[in-house]
Amino acid sequence: MKVGVLALQGDFREHIRMLRRLGVTAVEVRQAEQLADLDGLIIPGGESTTIGKLATQFGLMEPLRRFGAERPIWGTCAGMIFLARDIGRDQPLLGLMDISVNRNAFGRQVDSFEAALEVSGLEDQPFKAIFIRAPLVTEVDEPAGVEILARLEDGGIVAVRQGHLLATAFHTELTGDDRLHHMFIEMIQKHQPTAAAS
Ligand code: GLN
Repeated sequence: MKVGVLALQGDFREHIRMLRRLGVTAVEVRQAEQLADLDGLIIPGGESTTIGKLATQFGLMEPLRRFGAERPIWGTCAGMIFLARDIGRDQPLLGLMDISVNRNAFGRQVDSFEAALEVSGLEDQPFKAIFIRAPLVTEVDEPAGVEILARLEDGGIVAVRQGHLLATAFHTELTGDDRLHHMFIEMIQKHQPTAAAS
């Protein structure tokens, strides 16, 4: 299995490290040609406006959309924003997931925080999630197949899956807990490219 991490900006190195620790071949992706032989892709946290601007400049928007129509992508934090269909403002988005997202949803007072999350599929123990200027999912299109995997105590949606697409509002690569990386690898293993093309 070969998994790419979009390496335009943000904390792609940490994701590469986590994947390699799990025995997966992981590569930094900066060019459309590199998508060809990947089984899945992670879009890391960082700054979604910068990631969008660079992806546009490097001609990656359409190749990434085609990739995500058929193969698994996981967006964390800025990556979640980049995957969303709508964020209520104008910046380049892949629009692959039927979710609305509010950027910087927690405001300045709570720039970053940690939460012990119950994540569906990871019931053995809570996931220690780190939120850094994090987004929140404000709407999910359930008829389109979006499932909610985790909420904050106040109900705020912070992890969702839609078929072969996964999005988390928090950083999953900074704590050493590799269960979400493991979940994504399992999604890739179970994925049947021909059946999921849309
Ligand atoms: N606030 C950032 C954005 O809007 C996301 C922060 C992050 O990825 N940690 O893109």
